[in-house]
Amino acid sequence: MEKLPLLNLVIPCYNEGEALPYTKKELDRKMHDLIDNKLISAKSKVVLVNDGSKDNTWDEIESMNKTDKMYVGIKLAHNRGHQNALLAGLLYAKDHADIAISMDADLQDDINVMDDMIAKFKEGADIVYGVRNSRKSDTFFKRFTAEGFYRFMSLMGVDIVFNHADCRLMSKRAIEGLAEYQEVNLFLRGIVPQIGYKTDIAYYSRNERVAGESKYPLKRMLSFALDGITSFSVKPLKMITAIGFIILLLSFIILIYSVIMKIAGNTVSGWTFIVCSIWLIGGIQTLCLGIIGEYIGKIYNESKHRPRYIIESILD
Ligand code: UDP
Ligand code: MG
Repeated sequence: MEKLPLLNLVIPCYNEGEALPYTKKELDRKMHDLIDNKLISAKSKVVLVNDGSKDNTWDEIESMNKTDKMYVGIKLAHNRGHQNALLAGLLYAKDHADIAISMDADLQDDINVMDDMIAKFKEGADIVYGVRNSRKSDTFFKRFTAEGFYRFMSLMGVDIVFNHADCRLMSKRAIEGLAEYQEVNLFLRGIVPQIGYKTDIAYYSRNERVAGESKYPLKRMLSFALDGITSFSVKPLKMITAIGFIILLLSFIILIYSVIMKIAGNTVSGWTFIVCSIWLIGGIQTLCLGIIGEYIGKIYNESKHRPRYIIESILD
């Protein structure tokens, strides 16, 4: 008989004291279903990462662990944000499991997607992205801002999977690949597609939050988007170079225009010189900033120490 994969279900929790009791009920049922149906090993665990919560989240996790050893708790010393909490859980899973699935504590992402994810892993995928096929339960505002987020990101040159948040399955070797990324500004949705290997998609519908409130209000979403762009793309810097070129081009048109005006005699004395200087200097300055930006972009890429490649297999 083939060996069943040992699953670690990684769940970052920040002030989720209210949601955890509901979440536990659902997880109990789902994990036992998966085990009974021989999809995962009976030694599979749920890894709850407490991201420096200020409420009773850790007490909840402790009591879950006490009553059922399927629940493992990791307590971060302070609040480091969703992405870091998730990474902490994934790196734990790397050493303890064959596959890890990440999921939010509010179970907004339908947990039944796990079946499909595991099936796709068995078909050979190392990374399975969970993608929302409907956002009916989201408010118009959340849907609008969230989908705008994906569009804006790809416009700014960040390669991400549309409508995929952080609900995904990763094999052990995919997480080992992830571990090679040493960067501090963590934007997992951008890094994971860079790892490579065979990937697949599992669709699910997004539900309402079971309890508590969203930890991603608009302000945090904006700063998350900005973080994503500045951690992944030097496109904004390249845009400066382009703007410099455009201004320089314009300044030649202005030059011709103002000389014609001068000849036609429609100008006060000194106007031609001032107008031409302003445009020319403006263009040169912007272009120079762009050139400096190109170098900064290079330094920035170097400083990330990203792996240059990950070997999948060697035939010798
Ligand atoms: N989260 C976290 N640290 C934070 C903020 C959020 O670990 O600083 C967790 C949170 O507990 C949840 C997940 O990240 O499990 C997603 O947050 P939330 O559901 O509030 O975001 P939304 O679904 O509203 O975008
Ligand atoms: Mg949520």
